[in-house]
Amino acid sequence: MTKPKQDARRNERVDLRGLTLDEIGEALAKLGEPKYRADQVAAWIFPRGVRTFEEMTDLPLTLREKLARDFKLAGTEIVRREASAIDGTEKLLLQYADGSSVETVILRDSDRTTGCVSTQIGCRFGCSFCATGAMGFVRNLSAGEIVEQMLALRRSVDPERVSNLVFMGMGEPLDNYDDTLKAIRIANATWGLGIGARRMTISTAGIVPGIRRLAEEDLQLNLAVSLNSPKQRLRSQIMPIAERYSITEIMDALADYVRSTGRHVTLEYLLLKDINDSPEMAMMLADLARELPCKVNLICYNETEKAVYAPPSDKTVEQFLSILRARCPTVVRRVSRGSDIAAGCGQLCVPKRKKRSR
Ligand code: SF4
Repeated sequence: MTKPKQDARRNERVDLRGLTLDEIGEALAKLGEPKYRADQVAAWIFPRGVRTFEEMTDLPLTLREKLARDFKLAGTEIVRREASAIDGTEKLLLQYADGSSVETVILRDSDRTTGCVSTQIGCRFGCSFCATGAMGFVRNLSAGEIVEQMLALRRSVDPERVSNLVFMGMGEPLDNYDDTLKAIRIANATWGLGIGARRMTISTAGIVPGIRRLAEEDLQLNLAVSLNSPKQRLRSQIMPIAERYSITEIMDALADYVRSTGRHVTLEYLLLKDINDSPEMAMMLADLARELPCKVNLICYNETEKAVYAPPSDKTVEQFLSILRARCPTVVRRVSRGSDIAAGCGQLCVPKRKKRSR
């Protein structure tokens, strides 16, 4: 009869993967351990990425036992792995200990390997082109769970290195601000994963208070906003969050971000056939882009089985591009990656578990 209590205690254990070096030090001080132990423990958790306390072999056995009693290390198992035959993109379905899962993606370029990280299970913002939005909101991921995703990506590409991170997976990173930022600080720290802030990109649907908070952080992160329409009313139809934060408010917040960080920003534009791909839209988008030191990333919608939209023709894309290029400095046509494994923008989701038949 003692089992439920034991289980409850096990669940209350603090996840060391979600703590900063200082916090690990404070936690160990409560166990009567000297300060230098924090460096040892952090080195095992982050750079070496061990998954159990037993593996921390330079710690005394009694400390390892105490750690296992009072703490945990968020873990995941890869329950599905798909690789694109087109471009080598890989998509992993990772399952946490509580049975919940997220999708995460590995993107390979000649000069970098990028991990696309999720920050929530599901999403509350319901953008009309997005499979994650169609799932609804399930829960936020903790900082430790986000860091574990990065470690899982690293394990799965080893001996390659994950050089870049994009927070463009499932969920809206600025809607889970504190945990996302803590995970980013752990990823960035030299005692953590040692990934430069300039190699990390947060992509948001345009959560203005989050953009303003981010501008105050002492981090040189890249910031991308999923704009998708230069017209307020159309943007609200594509992305309901636009009802709350207008394009003008977003552009003001981005201008402040550029001023306080000195970083350029990115406007992401998903081209949807006959919706936002007209020459008029291209001109309006160029006018907006000229307000800021920014880059425009143009992406074509990926057609899938359950697609609500269609991708524009090549001719339309070329026309859109040339109008933009003539008017604003940096425009990049981003090729949609992993289209054969539904790993592209807005395609990540976790299928509902099938009910067991009797
Ligand atoms: S695009 Fe981003 S904000 Fe919109 S529903 Fe999908 S995950 Fe949420």
